[in-house]
Amino acid sequence: MCRQIKENLANVRRNIQAACETAGRNPETVTLIAVSKTKPLKFLLEAYEAGVRDFGENKVQEIVEKAPAMPPDASFHMIGHLQRNKVKQVLPYVVMIHSVDSVRLAEEIQKEAEKLGRTVDILLEVNVAKEESKFGFFPEDTEAAVMEIARFSNLRIQGLMTIAPFVENPEENRSVFQKLYQLSVDIKKKNIDNVSMSVLSMGMTGDYPVAVQEGADMIRVGTGIFGAR
Ligand SMILES: *Cc1c(COP(=O)(O)O)cnc(C)c1O
Repeated sequence: MCRQIKENLANVRRNIQAACETAGRNPETVTLIAVSKTKPLKFLLEAYEAGVRDFGENKVQEIVEKAPAMPPDASFHMIGHLQRNKVKQVLPYVVMIHSVDSVRLAEEIQKEAEKLGRTVDILLEVNVAKEESKFGFFPEDTEAAVMEIARFSNLRIQGLMTIAPFVENPEENRSVFQKLYQLSVDIKKKNIDNVSMSVLSMGMTGDYPVAVQEGADMIRVGTGIFGAR
């Protein structure tokens, strides 16, 4: 298994490299987040040994169990829908929350961040394809949400995140990634205080090379590293 995770990682890194070459990008500007949800700590440690420092989880319970057991320079990203009553519990263990999908959730994160005396990096989740089953702001509502959330002084809006539709051919998601990129450019132009728009979190196992070509700064790869769930 150790060997498999290592090989899978090498393969993902080669694909990132190739996508960057196609797009004329520096591969060092792409952060690979290894999505370790449902996987045991042993797997995370193997990925750590192979150089991974960023891990993505979608359940608070798993983060609070795994994060304290990992080496201190491993970082955890909350990428799943977050309930307001679990914000307090998860905050000490995460470097970034990718899945801020309502102003009320942002308000709760602000409240708890203030109590801890820290600032929290967040991304706003955008439901680009307007899928019923997905969380996130619709593209046309995102700028207004950014303006509201920018008022929370303990939050830093670093950018946007999307979960593209499940498709057979990753090319089908290219326009989704292009839309998220354009949305971030449009919002950046407004120069809103407290908002940087420097991070796009997009691309998963099925489509990350396309996402990288379209400007992803963070990609979230689970199956392609750890195998099927
Ligand atoms: C599970 C998950 C991923 C990783 O999915 P894979 O297809 O296994 O790479 C990425 N992002 C989010 C939000 C997820 O929940």
